[in-house]
This record gives sequence, C-alpha cells and structure tokens, in this order.
Amino acid sequence: MMPTGVLESLAADMVAYRETGLSLIEVSHRGADYDRVHQETIGLFRELMRVPEEYSVLFLGGGATMQFSMLPMNLLLPGGTADYVDSGAWALKAINEARKVGKVNVLWSGEEDHYRLLPPADALKPTVGSSYLHITSNETIGGIQWERFPDTGDVPLVADMSSDILSRPVDVSQFGLIYAGAQKNLGPAGLTVVIIQDELLKRCSNQLGSYLSYSVHAKANSLYNTPPVFPIWAMNLVLQGIKAQGGAAVLAGENQKQAEELYRAIDGSGGFYRCPVRPEFRSRMNVVWRLAEEDKESLFIRESAAAGLVGLKGHRSVGGCRASLYNAMTMEGVRRLTSFMADFARHNA
Ligand SMILES: *Cc1c(COP(=O)(O)O)cnc(C)c1O
Repeated sequence: MMPTGVLESLAADMVAYRETGLSLIEVSHRGADYDRVHQETIGLFRELMRVPEEYSVLFLGGGATMQFSMLPMNLLLPGGTADYVDSGAWALKAINEARKVGKVNVLWSGEEDHYRLLPPADALKPTVGSSYLHITSNETIGGIQWERFPDTGDVPLVADMSSDILSRPVDVSQFGLIYAGAQKNLGPAGLTVVIIQDELLKRCSNQLGSYLSYSVHAKANSLYNTPPVFPIWAMNLVLQGIKAQGGAAVLAGENQKQAEELYRAIDGSGGFYRCPVRPEFRSRMNVVWRLAEEDKESLFIRESAAAGLVGLKGHRSVGGCRASLYNAMTMEGVRRLTSFMADFARHNA
C-alpha cells in the first residue's frame, strides 16, 4: 500500500511540478529542482533510520535481487567465505546468487523444519575470517521475522530488509550493510536503498563494472548515472509522512497492534484458521495462515476479494493466505479483514 495522501500529491504535481511548468520526471537529474529532492530524500532517510555519520546511503536500481549479486561481488573477499542464514525463500535466493561469486557457508538452515523458525540470535557465530554474515530480517513469504539480531563481532552483519525496513527502530551500527527494495515499505518499485559502512567501501574492487561498484555510487552520491527519479520523489513524500507521524518507533507501535489483532483472529478461530509459524518467530509484516480445510482457501480468497480485501493469496510457492501489514496499512484495514474472517468462518464451519 501507498499512503493515499502521497498518491494524491504525486498526481497533483505530476504534470507541472511546483512553479517549473514541467513534471519532475521531465527535468534534468542534474538540475536544481531534482537535486533538491534527491538531497532531501537522502537526508530524510538518514534521519528516520538514524544512520550514523560513517555510513553511506545509496539509491540504486535493480531491486533487492540485484543486491543478491552485487553484495558478494563487492564484499566477498578473494578466496574468502561468506556466511549465510538460510531462513526461507528470499535467503535461499541470496545464497544461490552468492554461490556464483564465491564460497558460501550456510551457518544455519530452517529447510528441514519447513522454514517456520529462526536460530537464536545468541547462538549464531560467524566462521572465523568470514567476509560477512547475511541474514534476511523478515521472510516475506514464510512470515517469520528476526526480533533481535546476532552479534557478529568483527564480521560485518548484512541484512536484506526489503520487507520490514523502517517498520521498527533498528540500530544501524550493528550492521555493515543493509539493503532493501523500496516497493514494500518505502514507495513504488524501481528503487533499492543500500546503507553501507564507509570502511567496507574500501573492499570494492575497481575491476567491477562501474554500476556494480558500491564505491562508485558512494563517491557520486547516487548520481553516477540517472537515478530512479520517480520512485525517489515518491519515497520523499512517504518519508515526510512517516516523519510527521513520529518516525519508526510510532510505526512499530501501530504495526504491533495490527499484527496482534490479526494473530488473535487466527488463533481465536477455534481451529478454523491456523498460523503455521511458532509465536516467537511470527512476522509483524507478513501474517500467513491456512484454513483447516485447505480446499476452502480458494473460496476464501475469492470472497475476500469480492469484499474489497485485495491480495490475500499466499505466495504461489507456498499457498495459503497472507496479509501484508506494511507501513501504509491501517488498523481500520486490519479490522475489516478480521471481521470478514469471522463472518467467513461462521458461514463455512
Ligand atoms: C520482495 C523481496 C525481495 C525481492 O525484491 P526485488 O526488489 O523484487 O528484487 C528480496 N528480499 C525480500 C526479503 C523481499 O521481500
């Protein structure tokens, strides 16, 4: 979801941005109008994420998927190893891409348990000399989320935060690098955000193609080439809204209440619905559930869509149902869902 106010504001400014008479997507990305938006957006993101001085923020294209490759290309030391936690579908994609670049050590895997749990953060110790340790802070498809993050000592901790970025306060100084596609919590598709500790920029080989190098983008303040202007503009408006709401801590509070409401509806349904994830690992962003009678799931999806509740079908790889409580979701939206669920259970039990 995008906040309605942001969509309205984009629509109002789309044809003629402020007093320029041109759309912001028509002007030069080197001109003053876009530059102001670019710098302001980086500033807002740094402020809301509380990014420390000694980190750079990069705005890139290619989605989180490109980061699966770009990360090891830049940070996996020659002849070295990178540690990965195999927590689900997205972690596995990151692992498979890293394997094309260098040696991967899977520290822990939830595969045998059908990806319904995570390792205890304290028990996770990186391999000696590992280039970095990669985790997926929220598994979007499996509906599991790290509550606390492992302490990896001198080994940089790297996180794919595509599906929970800015949904809760995070201590960036615990990480060497954070990346996220913008399209779930921050804005439209087409923009990927990377936060990287400046120290790590020294690892980036100058043999890499220029666009593939974090260091090239950091030196150019994400203006090495034409940046994804439209999604950056839209994210600017989303971030302004988040700032006005009170920032990540306020969003986390709202999100917690919404997730509790939905899990309560599932757990309190007398077994009509069930969540496959153990309570301590349940995601507050992506709530997954099944119907006890799985052959009624397609009816549930059809009827909920007809009632205006869109996008509740689980990922095609796992089936079932899933509701995403990204930042723009409201308690009113969640209550409409839980009341539909109660009605559906009554009529189909
Ligand atoms: C959606 C998602 C991705 C893929 O993002 P793209 O921007 O489509 O490449 C990667 N990781 C996680 C955790 C996701 O939720």
